[in-house]
Amino acid sequence: MPILTLSADSCLTIPPELLERLGVKPGDRVSLEEGQGGLLLRAAPLPTAVPTAEGARSGQPGEGVGDALARKNLETPMHSVKGVGPKLSALLARRGIACVEDALYLLPNRYEDRRELRPIAALRPGFNELFSGRVLSAESVTSRGGRRFFEALLADDSATVTLKWFNCNPTFMKRVWKQGRRALVTGEVSRFASQLEVHHPDVEWLAEGSEPRDLLSADPLNFGGIIPVYPLTEGLSQKVMRRVMREVVERFIPFVRELVPPELLERLGLPGLRHSLGHLHTPPVDERLDDLNGGCSAAHRAIAFDEFFFWELGLALKRCGVTLEEGIAFQVNHLYTKPLVRMLPFQLTRAQRRVLSEIKQDMMAPHPMHRLVQGDVGSGKTLVALMAALVAVENGYQVAIMAPTEILAEQHWHTIHRWCADLGIATVLITAGMRGREKSDALGRVADGSARIVIGTHAVIQEKVEFARLGLGIIDEQHRFGVLQRAILRKKGKGCNPDILVMTATPIPRTLAMTLFGDLSLSVIDELPPGRTPVETRVTPESQRVRVYDTIRREVGQGRQAYVVYPLVEENERSELKAAAQMAEQLGKEIFPDLRVGLLHGRMNPQEKESVMASFKARELDILVSTTVIEVGIDVPNATVMVIEHAERFGLSQLHQLRGRVGRGAARSRCILMTNGRPSEDGERRLKVMEATNDGFRIAEADLEIRGPGDFLGTRQSGMPDFRVANILRDGALLEQARQAAFGLLEQDPGLASSGNAPLRDELLRRWGQRLELGAIG
Ligand code: ADP
Ligand code: MG
Repeated sequence: MPILTLSADSCLTIPPELLERLGVKPGDRVSLEEGQGGLLLRAAPLPTAVPTAEGARSGQPGEGVGDALARKNLETPMHSVKGVGPKLSALLARRGIACVEDALYLLPNRYEDRRELRPIAALRPGFNELFSGRVLSAESVTSRGGRRFFEALLADDSATVTLKWFNCNPTFMKRVWKQGRRALVTGEVSRFASQLEVHHPDVEWLAEGSEPRDLLSADPLNFGGIIPVYPLTEGLSQKVMRRVMREVVERFIPFVRELVPPELLERLGLPGLRHSLGHLHTPPVDERLDDLNGGCSAAHRAIAFDEFFFWELGLALKRCGVTLEEGIAFQVNHLYTKPLVRMLPFQLTRAQRRVLSEIKQDMMAPHPMHRLVQGDVGSGKTLVALMAALVAVENGYQVAIMAPTEILAEQHWHTIHRWCADLGIATVLITAGMRGREKSDALGRVADGSARIVIGTHAVIQEKVEFARLGLGIIDEQHRFGVLQRAILRKKGKGCNPDILVMTATPIPRTLAMTLFGDLSLSVIDELPPGRTPVETRVTPESQRVRVYDTIRREVGQGRQAYVVYPLVEENERSELKAAAQMAEQLGKEIFPDLRVGLLHGRMNPQEKESVMASFKARELDILVSTTVIEVGIDVPNATVMVIEHAERFGLSQLHQLRGRVGRGAARSRCILMTNGRPSEDGERRLKVMEATNDGFRIAEADLEIRGPGDFLGTRQSGMPDFRVANILRDGALLEQARQAAFGLLEQDPGLASSGNAPLRDELLRRWGQRLELGAIG
């Protein structure tokens, strides 16, 4: 009778002979039941072919098992995996691994080259190397700086290497590191003076008489190949992780389904998912280490593609749903648009005209428009929005224009109201502060349809306003990326689906826009009105404040105006206001007693703000000291200087938005980024980017690169999908390919309705159904 052994992690190992007698084969499920003499272990072999409702999918290599069953197997909880007890499964759960599918997608962080032993003399600093040697000496050492560490000297025939541990238990180390013992060591090599060192190496002891090479072949999980290094949590070791992963891969990879059409993979030269996952957990010895470590091996790319493909398929399906819906088919009769164009003191830019014709095409179609217009600060989005609004008004519909802040709503209203008054179109501004008669009047004019264009903040329009006949909603998102609330606008439309136009001021890098807003059509105003000179930008330390003031004085002397902007200096708004207010006072009383200095901040009531802005615009103020509230709104072409205090504290897109307030006329403008103390590394990078370019797209790309997608978008709720392997920065080209493939597939099979595509559709619903609200479309 073979002996059952209890392993260190409380697992009972059942010897193969016993398993054979029980009739258990690898891959079988085993159940435990309570029996008279203790637990009963019962083998329940997996059926090899399961007839499912849809009929077993044949043609899948490797098994005739139905999709549903394969899925079920991938959902096997980790504690049911051989060698994983309750303690281990709890640790794995902490890493987010609940079932074997999670485990399969937990890819190694990096890989170590443990294919060959190197003589110590040949170790390369900067590389992770594998070598062996004999302990010459080992002891606890205190450095001159008073830091204690443990040090061992290891030698082979060629040279010696020093191994070091900081923060270890010296008594324990002393006991283990005996002179004369032989060890197999891996770790990153560095060189200090002429001595090679390895800090915190991985160590495997060699039994007397055994050869290092023997261990290489005896422990293929950890040696003798390209060895994966996994992300861990406390209490979990690489060795345990590798053992668990090997088990999961060997046992469960066959259940991974190949859903992306094979001809597509072939065209792109990508391997299948099953192969790719297996490959990355157990890379073959001849794989290129750089590709593996850079996340750009064919296997990595294949998995990233798979993730992108399903996401884009979801977006495509959603877009399909939008275009299949019934909407208003507007007619373009030029009743108002022509006169407006004639009234303008300038010509529309080519980009404005192109985007407008894209918008008009959408508006004329009998489906709801769902379009995102992207344009840098000052590219003239307001005018494009107004032209679109006029098309709706020409057709007897009302338009809602929603802005993110009160100031911006007011500004839109001022601009639009001016033109509309001349055209004889009634507009109305709804503010949160409206009371009594004023408010009921305004709401009444919206409800009876006499107000044609209604402007307010997102909140105001969503909550309070009833429309008589809403045909178009224009959402000015500025640099927020909230998921737009189509449903709310639709309700306002009373049965007819209004067209929707979203305007965004922050240029979003293309890959990101595609990922986030893939279900919207995208228009880009990629040209600024002529005659604008790029803003000259300089980073200046606080110590040169006097020179900065000279610049302001010089410009004002030439009839120009200046902004001085204050960030959130401390963690609360109050101190920001205080700093700005003090600044305004100091500038007005001490520095520029002869000039007119004004103050603008977010706590002022709308009338106060309004009057300050109006007097700056009317040149009754020379210098406007402000908190970041001016970021979104003011358009004063005569302002040619912007000083940003504590510029190192601002994010890139915010700096770019702020800078966009100058350089709006033909005169040469400058932006001075004042720094206080030494900026962080990222801070420095941001300021350099600002000095280098005025191009919003390049700034956005840099911003995305510095911050990563999650931060770039602000919050976790930004609408960014969670990809497990794909990275939109690294894999941008794959994203484009995935998008084309997904949209192409839907063109052939709208709604993914064909039976051949049923598995794709099921998987899509499983992965993204809830997130993309696909259920509603199906
Ligand atoms: P943004 O895209 O930042 O919202 P605006 O719509 O506020 O830009 O336009 C910025 C300024 O450019 C405004 O003063 C506007 O009147 C002006 N403008 C818009 N289109 C043109 C054009 N084609 N030629 C010249 N100036 C224009
Ligand atoms: Mg604007």
